Amino acid sequence: TAPLASADPEVAAAIGQELDRQQSTLEMIASENFAPTAVMEAQGSVLTNKYAEGYPGRRYYGGCEHVDVIEQLAIDRVKALFGAEAANVQPHSGAQANAAAMFALLTPGDTILGLDLAHGGHLTHGMKINFSGKLYNVVSYGVSEEDHKIDMAEVERLAVENKPKLIVAGWSAYSRQLDFAEFRRIADLVGAYLMVDMAHFAGLVAAGLHPNPVPYADVVTTTTHKTLGGPRGGVILSKQELAKKINSAVFPGQQGGPLEHVIAGKAVAFKMAASPEFKERQQRTLQGARLLADRLLQDDVAAAGISLVNGGTDVHLVLVDLRNSELDGQQAEDRLHRVGITVNRNAVPFDPRPPMISSGLRIGTPALATRGFGDAEFAEVADIIATALTHELTEELTSELQGRVTVLADKFPLYPNLNADTSN
Ligand code: PLP
Repeated sequence: TAPLASADPEVAAAIGQELDRQQSTLEMIASENFAPTAVMEAQGSVLTNKYAEGYPGRRYYGGCEHVDVIEQLAIDRVKALFGAEAANVQPHSGAQANAAAMFALLTPGDTILGLDLAHGGHLTHGMKINFSGKLYNVVSYGVSEEDHKIDMAEVERLAVENKPKLIVAGWSAYSRQLDFAEFRRIADLVGAYLMVDMAHFAGLVAAGLHPNPVPYADVVTTTTHKTLGGPRGGVILSKQELAKKINSAVFPGQQGGPLEHVIAGKAVAFKMAASPEFKERQQRTLQGARLLADRLLQDDVAAAGISLVNGGTDVHLVLVDLRNSELDGQQAEDRLHRVGITVNRNAVPFDPRPPMISSGLRIGTPALATRGFGDAEFAEVADIIATALTHELTEELTSELQGRVTVLADKFPLYPNLNADTSN
């Protein structure tokens, strides 16, 4: 039982360097966040040793009396948080949650209707070489060319034409809210199930700052590590009548033993997500994205051919549109990396550049809001981004912007009780 630093100095050193990277740079990948140390403590606990195939009270292994308590807490808390009738907290990830939900509702060969990956959908919503594209007959809807909003008339037309068994609403790169009632109406019109994948905006829903899809959808899937700010993992919420099917699709359908250490982290995160502090943080997340959008819509940025997909944001991210800019997505991502801001390039709808290069940046505010950023800091980081995207990054400008990043990072120390030697 030697500490990590002596048992495996190479891994310990890389973890230490990753801690330093997280502490000293500004994390703006829209799908990332910083899990509280209480969540990481649960994840790093003895629960990692336990096999618990089955569900609380109905396990295939002995010695599950304590993990039963933990998993039941996670189930009860997430049901209360989102007002769901049933919950499965075992999916190892968001992708596995989606795989299990589809496995429960569909037979291979059935038709699904989801948002096109190139227009902001997720791989699991029907991408060709993903399980969803291989097992099911995929029809994709997109956003309209005019305003980049999901075209509900097209969703209806495609639904009526193709009679899908499942309609998937949800996104990985989109900056507006979805009309869940309209999706429900269309699903009912053609007799389809409606599944909402709220992975990105679940934290906003938990805080009451975004419409809740649970009353409208048959099934709602989510990750627990994005805006929700918990451990990496997935959850499936459903109507009670589907609960049995979903439970057996997760185990034994898709998975073996649940990760009870992660489920404990989920339970902790769900408790925290019901607190006033969590709501206040999600408000800062939204306000930060608005401030970022405001800055990137100013004239100096527009003059460089840079705009925003959708013209703004109602959520925790903005999508920068570089289609008319000399900078491509790769170059823009590299520029921000050089000054200490981490984002990811992203294809934008109707993107003329190839996906590996792309013409967009996805920039999110959840991680910085968790760090403590408020209006002043978000306005400052927005100005750093605008400057880096519109000026040639000379050595002088690079070091000036790096200095401004460091001031912000130092103002809100991340994980002050962890240090690079032990990282725990
Ligand atoms: N669903 C959506 C909408 C996502 O954006 C993502 C992750 O990017 C996932 C599902 C998959 O989650 P995971 O990476 O945990 O498999």
